[in-house]
Amino acid sequence: MLSVYEIPDPFANFIERKYANIKGLKYHFFDKIWSTTCGTCSLELDGPTKKILLKIKLYHSRNECLNGY
Ligand SMILES: [Zn+2]
Repeated sequence: MLSVYEIPDPFANFIERKYANIKGLKYHFFDKIWSTTCGTCSLELDGPTKKILLKIKLYHSRNECLNGY
């Protein structure tokens, strides 16, 4: 990674603070993706928006992790 990306971005900080209370959800500002880790199998999941990521996580939990349980 180039050093230019090391400069802290106020908007990124704002995003981080805004969603800091949502457990396990991280926003990658420069990649413009959200990521989280599956609490059951520790698989890393990511999505373009928070909403989509939560859907992906729910789908993963139901269909891939817990076998439809
Ligand atoms: Zn899982």
